[in-house]
Amino acid sequence: MAKIVMKFGGTSVADLDRIRHAAGLVKQEVERGNQVAVVVSAMAGETNKLVGWTRELSPLHDAREYDVVVAAGEQITAGLTAVALSAIGVPARSWMGWQIPIRTSSMHGAARIQNIDRTLLDQRLADGQVAVIAGFQGVAPDNRISTLGRGGSDTSAVAVAAAISADRCDIYTDVDGVYTTDPRIVPKARRLDKITYEEMLELASQGAKVLQTRSVEIAMLHRVPVRVLSTFAPENGGTLLCDEDDIVEKRPVSGIAYSRDEAKITLLRIPDQPGVAAAIFGPLADAGINVDMIVQDVSADKAKTNLTFTVSRGDLARALETIQAAQSAIGYRDITSDASVAKVSIIGIGMRTHSGVAQTMFRTLAEKGINIQVISTSEIKVSVLIAEEYVELAVRALHSAYELDAG
Ligand code: ADP
Ligand code: ASP
Ligand code: MG
Repeated sequence: MAKIVMKFGGTSVADLDRIRHAAGLVKQEVERGNQVAVVVSAMAGETNKLVGWTRELSPLHDAREYDVVVAAGEQITAGLTAVALSAIGVPARSWMGWQIPIRTSSMHGAARIQNIDRTLLDQRLADGQVAVIAGFQGVAPDNRISTLGRGGSDTSAVAVAAAISADRCDIYTDVDGVYTTDPRIVPKARRLDKITYEEMLELASQGAKVLQTRSVEIAMLHRVPVRVLSTFAPENGGTLLCDEDDIVEKRPVSGIAYSRDEAKITLLRIPDQPGVAAAIFGPLADAGINVDMIVQDVSADKAKTNLTFTVSRGDLARALETIQAAQSAIGYRDITSDASVAKVSIIGIGMRTHSGVAQTMFRTLAEKGINIQVISTSEIKVSVLIAEEYVELAVRALHSAYELDAG
């Protein structure tokens, strides 16, 4: 007997037929003699609708009320899934985050899970009851409902799996695994049988939304065996997240991610002296704005220089306001911004040992006439910022250049 967490994403529970189908998959696991906890997302499109309503009423809404509204989508699917399971003879009950409880930080709208009490879940699972848990939500220290950021049901699932020491966490979604890149924009993308936690972490954080970044962090930390597979074709097998030792062939590049959620800010003619970077990035950090890529020009006259950095598009307006408010402390002459940029990243553990990997990226983009605006690297990743209009062309060209195309 194994203990399994099964997570169903929005498209997998998009209507009653799909909820019935998901319930059928749960039933199969129960009939194999397994204990099963199910984590569900809201029906596809539902969270967007709820977010839209909240914003429409007031762009400056209270984050705690936002959480009350957007967490509701998962409440509905949890209840419906429990009903569907009972209807086919599988004992089940729904659980909201606060009932377990799943305790989170106080950051409403983007809370982090801090603790999951396994006591009640353990008892019910031991009794043979399927626990259907509303993903994406928990309870904050102020005793109010919190949510985990978009895509957060993945994190709920992996965190529950870690908490109850599950043997496996299966993420059922609308693709049959993790691909070398988003199969929606590159039809030649290939499914990976295995991917290391580290590579998956980079892929997710660089924009591949197949798993929420935080879910991969938790999986890596607790060594949760996570599988990504299709609700509609589970027999295809899916992709397993694993340790580096389990990968025989360490390719220089295993995957390519892209993100359109980028905006670029350039400060012109800032003083080239100690303390200026702190004067820029201190106020941004205080405002809770994450800065990603940073590049500073070489100072031609040793007095003034230019500095460019990126933030997520949603933070652009606030970042500009913050910088403008700090104008006298920074001392820049001009500020420009561009929200039609995108980031493309190549990722692979083999980069540690292969040379010339970045060079192939730069050459490939040059051959397509794509200008690189900013570059950043880590041990297993190279990212470039380019004009948004070239994203798909860049991803496809790189996919071929690194010989990732399906044969
Ligand atoms: P769910 O609603 O099940 O959580 P998501 O829409 O959040 O599903 O994530 C699945 C989607 O992620 C896929 O439909 C695919 O377009 C996208 N995606 C992006 N990059 C990748 C990748 N490298 N491999 C697989 N899917 C990817
Ligand atoms: N329903 C939430 C969202 O759309 C959480 C999730 O689906 O993972 O972001
Ligand atoms: Mg998702």
